[in-house]
Amino acid sequence: MPLSDALCTFSSGLDSSISETLKQADKFNCSDNKYSVQGPKVWIKIPFKADTLPPGTIEVQGDNNGLTAMSVHSVLEDGSIRSANYSEKAVREHWRPKGQYGLPVPGSDNAQLRNDIKTVYVSIDHPRVVSSISISQLASKKVWDDRKLPLSVMFAILCGMAVMPLIYNAFFYSALRYNFMLWHSVMAAATTIYTFSSSGLIFIAFPETTLTTKFLLNYWTLAFGIAASGFFLIGFLERGKISWRLQAVILVTALFPVAATAIILHGNEGYNMYARNQYHASFLPYFFVIIYTMVHAIRRGSRAIWFQVAAWSPIIFFGLDRIARGMDIYIGIPALDYGLYFTLVIETIILAFGVANRILQLRRHHEDSMRKQVELTLLADTDGLTAIGNRRAFERAFHDKSPEYRFDHLAILDIDFFKHVNDEYGHETGDDVLRAVGKELANTRHFVARIGGEEFALLMKTKNRANRGSSSAVELSEICQRLIKAVHSDVPQIKRAVTFSVGVTSIGKRASLRSVMAVADKRLYDAKNNGRNQIVSFDISDLPKPHTDAATA
Ligand code: GH3
Ligand code: MG
Ligand code: MG
Repeated sequence: MPLSDALCTFSSGLDSSISETLKQADKFNCSDNKYSVQGPKVWIKIPFKADTLPPGTIEVQGDNNGLTAMSVHSVLEDGSIRSANYSEKAVREHWRPKGQYGLPVPGSDNAQLRNDIKTVYVSIDHPRVVSSISISQLASKKVWDDRKLPLSVMFAILCGMAVMPLIYNAFFYSALRYNFMLWHSVMAAATTIYTFSSSGLIFIAFPETTLTTKFLLNYWTLAFGIAASGFFLIGFLERGKISWRLQAVILVTALFPVAATAIILHGNEGYNMYARNQYHASFLPYFFVIIYTMVHAIRRGSRAIWFQVAAWSPIIFFGLDRIARGMDIYIGIPALDYGLYFTLVIETIILAFGVANRILQLRRHHEDSMRKQVELTLLADTDGLTAIGNRRAFERAFHDKSPEYRFDHLAILDIDFFKHVNDEYGHETGDDVLRAVGKELANTRHFVARIGGEEFALLMKTKNRANRGSSSAVELSEICQRLIKAVHSDVPQIKRAVTFSVGVTSIGKRASLRSVMAVADKRLYDAKNNGRNQIVSFDISDLPKPHTDAATA
């Protein structure tokens, strides 16, 4: 049963005994002001009504954070006293899940004596938090002994769930390096340690942990976890969804509890029972900033914020309840503390899904821009009319030193009397001819590009073929035949054959584009002068007599 109304308090020196305290029984404070105790030893006087209590041994419970020693005394009907003293270590060993002490009331284990107990006096040395007194209650020892295992298992599962995102983040961070994953890890670590410590599991794993260490762990992990959530939020939301000014407000209010904790715990070296209230109050500004941020980001069309809304709504609900109780605005239902553990863990897990979703989104974004870049590069290298390479692509291919681009011949191919085609059949038909030529050239095994109006370049690889001597000219002759047929079938309105003149040259090992082009151009010029519809693969003008030895397509 909760005792907040019935109990009274009294402060004394550390060496004050129960008999000395009983002599001053009238000085106990039962008013609303009773939690304003000075210490260093605080006495609690609890009425004991055996008939309203559960059967069996009764224990007194309360928050064990930070205190250093306790004693429990039963004052019986006849004025006799039964006492039990507990060192800090003994209090710790009597831990109850959720960080409470559970000390048996002396004599309550005896059915006869139990009915004679009138009042219970509890002394606490150096209580660090007001809840060591304010949430104290009398309860059945057996019930809580029975609950210890299932509750410990529940908390262990919660710790396991909170720790999972850590493993997952560590795994993916090594590959992806998004900062918000680190902040999420700090949050998950803080949630795990907080749950592990404040639930009492820490006393199973590390029995030597003092109540002060546990107290500091609880306070610091929560403060750091909250601060990390502010940094996480900013990194996690899409760029531009919250203004830089709001980002600054988020960080300042998120860090505020850390600063407050440092000041409060330092100031608490002495005796400050309201430290807990101040600590809880320091979270309030951040809570309101978070609520505002959600509204703000939703308005700006953020999608990531919905994970935050799902993760934080229960926390805000339970957190505000906790803060209100921490500040003693109302006593509330202490069982809601269990809810807070669940919401903290659920938050880490929902945000883990958020992290996964955000990573996918960022990757998709990344792939989109990569694809656009590739598309733009392709576009910049592609001839708009024929969809084969353009001059830029041709120059690039010529200079590319990778094995697949090691060409040995360059041919320049020019449509004969193309002006006539345009003049006679119109520009549209001329374009159709160019498209037909482009399409057919693309079917060859060479690198092809349209480098001028009706001028095409072929970068050829003939070296690997058996008869590589005149193979380029022979192959070009075949290509020209196929081009003539292609134009004829694709643009049937042109009655006479559209023919081609080609200048071809081998590419020397260290030859420049300009020099190779000059040779090919000159041979193309020779082909035109020599009557067109032919391939020229050597310098006709070098011959002793102007007799043509060119291959004819
Ligand atoms: P030659 O046999 O000496 O090469 O004679 P030609 O008429 O083919 O050569 P010329 O250089 O005199 O004319 C080329 C023509 O190609 C002129 C121009 O109108 C045409 N041309 C250039 N680009 C395009 C184009 O994109 N589409 C069409 N339809 N015609 C083009
Ligand atoms: Mg021409
Ligand atoms: Mg031309």
